[in-house]
Amino acid sequence: MFNNNFQTDILIIGGGPAGIVCAVTARKNNHSKKIVVVRDTPKTVVPCGIPYIFHRLNLVDEDIIPDDVFVKNNIKLIIDKAIKLDSKTKKVFFQSGREIIYDKLVLATGSSPVHIPIPGVDKEGVWFVKKDYTYLKKLRQAVLRSKNIVIIGGGFIGVELADELSNIKNLNISIVEMEERCLSKSFDKEFSQIAEEKLKQNGVKIYTGTKVLEIKGQDRVESVKTEGGKDIPADLVILSIGARPNISLAKDSKMRIGEYKGFWVDEYMRTNIEDIFAIGDCAETRDFITSRHLPVMLSSIATSEARIAGANLYQMRLFRKNKGTLGSFSTEIKGTVLAATGVNEERAKKEGIEVVTGYSESYNHHPQTLPRSELIKLKLIFFKSSGTILGAELAGPESVSEMINILALAIQEGLTISDFDTFQISTHPLLTAAPTVYPIIMAAQSALQKME
Ligand SMILES: Cc1cc2nc3c(=O)[nH]c(=O)nc-3n(C[C@H](O)[C@H](O)[C@H](O)COP(=O)(O)OP(=O)(O)OC[C@H]3O[C@@H](n4cnc5c(N)ncnc54)[C@H](O)[C@@H]3O)c2cc1C
Repeated sequence: MFNNNFQTDILIIGGGPAGIVCAVTARKNNHSKKIVVVRDTPKTVVPCGIPYIFHRLNLVDEDIIPDDVFVKNNIKLIIDKAIKLDSKTKKVFFQSGREIIYDKLVLATGSSPVHIPIPGVDKEGVWFVKKDYTYLKKLRQAVLRSKNIVIIGGGFIGVELADELSNIKNLNISIVEMEERCLSKSFDKEFSQIAEEKLKQNGVKIYTGTKVLEIKGQDRVESVKTEGGKDIPADLVILSIGARPNISLAKDSKMRIGEYKGFWVDEYMRTNIEDIFAIGDCAETRDFITSRHLPVMLSSIATSEARIAGANLYQMRLFRKNKGTLGSFSTEIKGTVLAATGVNEERAKKEGIEVVTGYSESYNHHPQTLPRSELIKLKLIFFKSSGTILGAELAGPESVSEMINILALAIQEGLTISDFDTFQISTHPLLTAAPTVYPIIMAAQSALQKME
């Protein structure tokens, strides 16, 4: 059916979470169309599982998205790299010399780690967190041979890596973060402190409010020099200071690029060029609350965008009610789950939004004397003017990672303090907090008191 050069109905470049979900959604909506996915890696790692390849998983091969999804859905998978796009002739050119003509093109090329131009960054022993199977296999081996690892960047990837690596015996882990605290983009101080304390209790050294000046060593890395004059011993350095969209295919086309250098898209993930869509990390997003362009790069967002594009390639099938990207995120550090959605108090203030916050602490079982009772800490952030929710932060047991999803829906639906105050819930002694002190209701009531 397919020769080296051929024509297809739907061509998807990129086989990460966005590309896969878009292809499957497109198949559900278009039974007779030819669908082709091209990706440039032999295997697709589960990106969110990368931190766990170093200890909890035994091999990188245990962190793979199986390719049988393509076979099951009659989708052709090709391993090749797209190097050029000609939107006039609707043709994509590949490294192997292959050319594919498309009717609809979806760019799901993802993101790559940001590099920083500090002296020594090219030394042997400096690594990035690439979503690349072959690279990660080498990184895993290098990590397991190391004694002193310095992670530059205390965002969620840096923190998750530090947490995982701190489980490995005789390994010294340090994080250097230039902001005043780790996880500052997602959490207010009360919550990021919980993460930092947990890591420190497990031997991770954290240097915040300080920049890295140089990665020192002869040929290979020996230490990391920071602004404060510290020289942290290192035989391996991992840079995790953010990601940038992969947009090299825009080079020869008239594709519009957004403020954060992702492909510009509208609410239906259409680029400015007819029949070309962009989804996932490579597409620019607008913040749900502030409408500002922000680089929110999450699998959860990538797959949501993929469903929108995949359903609407040929005709409008999926109406997009929400008009922006709501970053919702959870992580686990030493058994404590931290989760956040929307805008935190600090960012709201920076945006000039007057907020009122509510706080609650309740146990996840009742009575709290029951086995496995754990404390849930919740902060809700509301617009002072209208009482509409704009953010939430949680710390506690595993169940809070689902509670944050309820709060994300509440933000998308524009719920207010009084909606939470009258929230009708299900409770059970072994499964939830008591109805008398249900965290969401308690936090809303504490905010309500400040409104009055
Ligand atoms: C360590 C880590 C942990 C994370 N944890 C979480 C988490 O817990 N929760 C969460 O929601 N998000 C998490 N993320 C973010 C998440 O991984 C990304 O948002 C997600 O991978 C985006 O999916 P994507 O398909 O848009 O892009 P990618 O996953 O980057 O996939 C892009 C694909 O396109 C291919 N490609 C690129 N260019 C070309 C080309 N020219 N030709 C052919 N193929 C090409 C790539 O090889 C790749 O297969 C994490 C990320 C990392 C790095």
